[in-house]
Amino acid sequence: EILISHEVVDTPVATNLKVSLGEIIFSNVSFQYETQNIFSGLNLRIEPGQRVGLVGRSGAGKSTLMKLLMRQFDITGGEILIDGQNIASVFQESLRDSIAVVPQDPLLFHRSLKDNIRYGKLSATDEEVVKSAEHAQAHRFIDILPKKYETLVGERGVKLSGGERQRVAIARAFLKNAKILLLDEATSSLDSENEVMIQKALGELIQEKTVIAIAHRLSTLRAMDRLVVIDNGQIVEDGTHDELLKLGGIYAE
Ligand code: ATP
Ligand code: MG
Repeated sequence: EILISHEVVDTPVATNLKVSLGEIIFSNVSFQYETQNIFSGLNLRIEPGQRVGLVGRSGAGKSTLMKLLMRQFDITGGEILIDGQNIASVFQESLRDSIAVVPQDPLLFHRSLKDNIRYGKLSATDEEVVKSAEHAQAHRFIDILPKKYETLVGERGVKLSGGERQRVAIARAFLKNAKILLLDEATSSLDSENEVMIQKALGELIQEKTVIAIAHRLSTLRAMDRLVVIDNGQIVEDGTHDELLKLGGIYAE
């Protein structure tokens, strides 16, 4: 899921990104795919530690916004700054090291559960792996498997449900412990037990981090400090859950 694009290159004078506070600024950002304009002059400042939910209809550009922050594509105008540093001027590796991502449909490797979780921090000890699985509400389903953390995932091993794969991805994010967290919430409905466990895990994960979440569930949206509605490449609504409900616009709808 973390592919280094061939089109995006480090500048010869790149530096390592240093994230202390986790402030994110999109300043006058423009971006288009080959044929389709997505953003023209987008401005968004996210304060350190602020938790922002991104809302908007399908195709509005929510996932694209996250991809631009991870620099999977270069923008065509403006700047994206993290703690004052332009992300186009830092080593891509340092950028990706600074951001934890819980993707919509996490990919797991055909390796053990332990290796899959450790992917969040390759130097993690077994103890740290178990601890992060506990925080992610994943320990219990792993612990009852005959081979526990050594269980292989995929064709020759266990097949995990969507909710279980998400909890493994959340465990990775706990291990990574980055100041910035991107969450692309699954649209698929989960059974209520999975839903409760994931909510609990996410509630803990978002503490003391700057969070951008593409959220669909009301419970996740309500956990955010601020909601930003994107439409036609612009921010059309910006406020708290209660404020936007009162506004009676797209979010309320
Ligand atoms: P959803 O809620 O369905 O996930 P989204 O808001 O995340 O939608 P994006 O995935 O950001 O939307 O896509 C915005 C627009 O850009 C869409 O019209 C989409 O078809 C287009 N698009 C997305 N990725 C690419 C790509 N790699 N190349 C070309 N067009 C793309
Ligand atoms: Mg999307």
